[in-house]
Amino acid sequence: MTLPKFGYVMDLLPSRFSSFVDYLNGKINFTNCDTMILAALNLVNAFRDLHRKGYFYKDLNDGNFFIDMKNGDIKIIDNDNIGTLEDKNGVIGKSGYIAPEIVTGSAAPSTKTDRHSIAVVLFKLFMKHDPFMGKFYHKFDIIGPKEELEIYGKNPIFIFHPSDIRNYPTSLDKNAEKFWKLYPKCLKDRFIKTFVDGIKNPCARTSGGDWQTALIDLRANLAICEKCGEEFLLSQGECDKQHKIGKIDLLHIGCYNIPLFFKQKLFACHTAQNKDDYKSITAEIVKHKKNGTLAIQNLGDNEWSYLSHKFRNSVCKKGGIVKIHSKLEIDFGRQKGNMCSQHKKQYFLRIDSYKFPLDKGMHIEIDNNEIGQVQAKKDNPEIIALKNLTNKTWIYIENGIEKKCEPQKIFQIKDRISVNFCNSTGYIKLESIKGEQNHGNA
Ligand SMILES: [Zn+2]
Repeated sequence: MTLPKFGYVMDLLPSRFSSFVDYLNGKINFTNCDTMILAALNLVNAFRDLHRKGYFYKDLNDGNFFIDMKNGDIKIIDNDNIGTLEDKNGVIGKSGYIAPEIVTGSAAPSTKTDRHSIAVVLFKLFMKHDPFMGKFYHKFDIIGPKEELEIYGKNPIFIFHPSDIRNYPTSLDKNAEKFWKLYPKCLKDRFIKTFVDGIKNPCARTSGGDWQTALIDLRANLAICEKCGEEFLLSQGECDKQHKIGKIDLLHIGCYNIPLFFKQKLFACHTAQNKDDYKSITAEIVKHKKNGTLAIQNLGDNEWSYLSHKFRNSVCKKGGIVKIHSKLEIDFGRQKGNMCSQHKKQYFLRIDSYKFPLDKGMHIEIDNNEIGQVQAKKDNPEIIALKNLTNKTWIYIENGIEKKCEPQKIFQIKDRISVNFCNSTGYIKLESIKGEQNHGNA
């Protein structure tokens, strides 16, 4: 028996949620930029969940989701649009949001067409502009179905297409230009991927997981100016009041390079390999009251092991702090982090629980006793050597051959040398350092 359909029962939308249309019209705004990025993450994550279950939404547009502007929560409505891979009928979607192949009628809705709509929503959220509205769009006096077919279906040209200038921003597209240049490469690349490569090849469109990585990256690059308290993106190089920022160290964890500035937060997505958990704070950057040096505070449940500023393997319990230094390595339990460096490879000397980077000038100090120093060779500054500062002779093994290094003498640092320092044995090894300097403009 088939029952007649009268509609469906749904919860009333709580008053804390606002319409995305009101946001686009400038009637309302987010409490801050962090909340806007969080809203984007929540939206992407909701669709990622849906797609992972084999469903797709078909008709994502400005009218069917609502945002809490204070905390970034998202409420998606009209869930009767949702389809499965077998069901290719029903709602087609709203112009400007739907994928070109649906506009032209050459394909049915799918997760791939959803990905186009998600990118349109994200573009509008960040740039407050239509991704296909530029010079080409403005040449039409009226926009009707025929023009929409041309702009969004047959011939969609991204306003920031890297090589096709036909739809470049005009004086009518000031917002787009203003915001586009503020954002870092990690975000812009995903839009280009979707709106340039993804136009002809829907498989090239940015996936939910990829957006998540980009947005987590973007969020970590949102800093608060210590001079004026305003939010700004590090890619801008300075805050709106033109307060310059100094050098910021980066901590490399998995696919992220996290800028370490005062009050920066690390989440489970960084330290626990839990990509979907961008809400649980596991660490925060704190500052020494007297000397202003930065440290990482453990706010998670895991105990960390790390290489201290004295190059000793140490443990940091919940609530404890780890001083930031250029050779810092932290094992967060499920994920490891190390400082980014220009050097790809470096010699390290391991002795007991110590791990010393062998840089020129480096003092090797064990339990407060200086035993040696790294020097450049007088005749060739490119070659580094270790000087024996003890009063005992060291025995070291290089290529299976036993050699001696008398007090005040040096021996050349090479890969795989074991050294007997009298009380302990050390091992020199050339190790790769992961990560590279990648943040900033581009
Ligand atoms: Zn400032």
